[in-house]
Amino acid sequence: MRHSSRFWPARWDRRARIGWVGALAFRERVFLRAAFATLGVTIAGTAVYAAVGPQPSIDHVMRDWVPSLVYVIASALIVLRVIRVREGRGPWIVIAAGIMLYTAGTLVWSLWLQNLPAPPFPSLSNALWLSMYPAAYLGLVWLARGKKGQGAPAGVWLDGIVAGLGIAALGAAVVLGPTQRAATGNFVALATNLAEPIADLILAGLVMGILALRGFRLDRVWILVGGGFLLLCIGDIMFVLNVAGGATSTSSTSLVFYLAAVASIAWAAWQRQDDAPTARLEGWSMLLIPGLFALTAIGLLVYDHFVTLDAIAMVLATVTLLMALLRTTLTFRDVRTLTETRRQATTDDLTSLPNRRLFMQRAAEGIAGARAVQGSLALLIIDLDRFKELNDTMGHQAGDGLLRQIGPRVLPILRPTDTLARLGGDEFGLLLGPPCDEASALHVAERVRDALRAPFEIDGLHLKVAASVGIGVFPLHADDAERLLQCADIAMYQAKASHSGREVYAADQERHSRDNLALTSELPQAIEQGQLEVHFQPKAEARGRRLVGAEALVRWRHPERGLLPPVAFLALAEHSGLGRELTRCVMADALERCRHWRAAGHDLHVAVNASVVDLLDLQFPDEVAAALTAHDVPASALMIEVTESSVMSDPVRISDVLARLGELGIGISLDDFGTGYSSLVHLRKLPVCEIKIDRSFVSGMGSMGADLAIVRATIRLAHELGLRVVAEGVEDDATWQRLADLDCEIIQGYYLARPMPAAEFEAFLVRADTQADEQPERDVVSR
Ligand code: C2E
Ligand code: CA
Ligand code: CA
Repeated sequence: MRHSSRFWPARWDRRARIGWVGALAFRERVFLRAAFATLGVTIAGTAVYAAVGPQPSIDHVMRDWVPSLVYVIASALIVLRVIRVREGRGPWIVIAAGIMLYTAGTLVWSLWLQNLPAPPFPSLSNALWLSMYPAAYLGLVWLARGKKGQGAPAGVWLDGIVAGLGIAALGAAVVLGPTQRAATGNFVALATNLAEPIADLILAGLVMGILALRGFRLDRVWILVGGGFLLLCIGDIMFVLNVAGGATSTSSTSLVFYLAAVASIAWAAWQRQDDAPTARLEGWSMLLIPGLFALTAIGLLVYDHFVTLDAIAMVLATVTLLMALLRTTLTFRDVRTLTETRRQATTDDLTSLPNRRLFMQRAAEGIAGARAVQGSLALLIIDLDRFKELNDTMGHQAGDGLLRQIGPRVLPILRPTDTLARLGGDEFGLLLGPPCDEASALHVAERVRDALRAPFEIDGLHLKVAASVGIGVFPLHADDAERLLQCADIAMYQAKASHSGREVYAADQERHSRDNLALTSELPQAIEQGQLEVHFQPKAEARGRRLVGAEALVRWRHPERGLLPPVAFLALAEHSGLGRELTRCVMADALERCRHWRAAGHDLHVAVNASVVDLLDLQFPDEVAAALTAHDVPASALMIEVTESSVMSDPVRISDVLARLGELGIGISLDDFGTGYSSLVHLRKLPVCEIKIDRSFVSGMGSMGADLAIVRATIRLAHELGLRVVAEGVEDDATWQRLADLDCEIIQGYYLARPMPAAEFEAFLVRADTQADEQPERDVVSR
């Protein structure tokens, strides 16, 4: 029989079996199997007899003895279950009682009453049969409640009610009319005649209602017990209709239903409730059954126009319809709630963009799709630069405000098939294509960065936000979503480290990091052997164009790789604990040069960049003081440039260090101003005498109105706070002129001169001097 399993739905995957049989002793098992076999054979025999038609010779046996035997065996089986199996016994005691009463009614009728010359009506049998119903109702409800009475949602209760009422309405329409019309005699007779079909309708309604309540999860028990009681109702209704049509005794066909009904209920008694996996109707199909009953009710109401139906049927049909309407309303509400919950599970609360979960899902789908067509797609990670700083200085609300503005900026430049998601924090994911190759991914990355370039308005302030984008391409770099994300992540860090803004994942980044490793190991020696050299970039008065000083900018003259810019090794130096040593070298060199310039008659200051590690070191001011003495340079000729971000990393401690530097008479210059998020007012507490407006604003002054506005406002505010303003990154005369008009004090930039080695700088000073002599009113400095 094994092969047959695949023709059955999953819940029948194992052969029909007697679940609790293990609770029995061997002899009892044999009896049990024999009993069920007898039931099967007898019912089959009755079915054949019903098909063949009445045979007078065996009619009495087939109509009276055989059914009585079936009822008795079925009752015994249920009773046996109640005795031998403890689990879930309660409802089966009640059902057993009901079936026994029903059996008793049948026995009384078959073996005694029907043989009387004038059987009474209503009789003892009628009373016994009717008393089965309350027991059946109670048993079914008890069984449905299960071990724990779990509450079902309102919609499910309504399903039960709709299904129950619907089937009752249908039954009432079919049965009640004919019964009433056929009824003769006294009130008790009529009541009895009506009571049974009505009881049946309630029973059928109850079964349907419970099945609906269970969400039509039909396990073995419920198919058998529900089906059993439904068969009983069908048999009864056929009987009642037969009688109404003039028949005097039970037809063989309805007999088959009765017998199958009790056998089925007996079999149900022996099933374990958790016997088989449960199937459940999902989503819209759940509306199907209530819908069907609603349609039935409508059908009845329409039919009533042609043939007047029983009043009870009409009432039932109307109520069914109303309940179905209510149910539909609830379903729509449920579906909406469900959709909303699903949406929430895949949406980022703050930005309303898809969240990481949905993003990864789409990435996986996208990869599958691309693989199928042998296409490619790109995954981008967009990370805002220095977002933490913004959060720390301006508060989380400002940070949130910024994050919310990212979607509206980026979405308009995407195709509808692209996915922008917030992966967490200040990290966004962007899924492109397919098709999307490396080149188009780079193109989109640029456009994204462009879209983010204009200042964001947050709390009335205009903030500039830069983003770094890392790109991973399927199938070039990875062939699954997780790995692709990793690639994009690595590329993003690369983009941050190199300040390139965007970077495509490259396998040779590994080589790159090996190079870095080599550099790190070479750095201490390089410092020792004087491979670091300091270049100087001049600063001049904006109006008078007179030179006022120079910024010291470090370089590494690497024996194999040539001249390395600070980005190539500064971070490495700081991470490997050489940051302090590096500053010491630069400081010494810068002060020594400055002494030279001053000795040669140039009243110049020198500006040295300090990093966080310097500023966190409480020894730093003493060290600087010692260096000034050693090189015989006045404190007023030294500026120390610090960035906002380094100050913000530990404002209390660092402002202490800065205050002590200030006390020494050293000027503090706030570098890269505008790229951080601290407000000027905030910075008033710091002993700063100068701010350097970041070159990104200065270079945008000519083309971007917003940049010009920021520069203008910054200068005005700085002046109100008594600070001097330096504009760096001045690359043309127009910008210089405009800055002068805006009362910016000092200018630095390629237009004046690029950073240059010390010797070159000294030559530059000499040139500047001669030019100043030639054109005293409008100085020197042009290239
Ligand atoms: P920074 O302090 O903002 O230095 C100015 C940077 O802008 C320099 O880059 C300079 O070459 C560049 N620059 C100057 N004028 C122009 C211009 O007109 N247009 C453009 N596009 N760029 C211009 P550099 O030398 O590569 O230095 C980069 C950064 O490295 C510096 O930025 C500074 O933060 C850091 N740095 C340099 N030397 C030192 C040092 O000795 N110690 C520390 N701690 N940091 C240093
Ligand atoms: Ca600087
Ligand atoms: Ca700067």
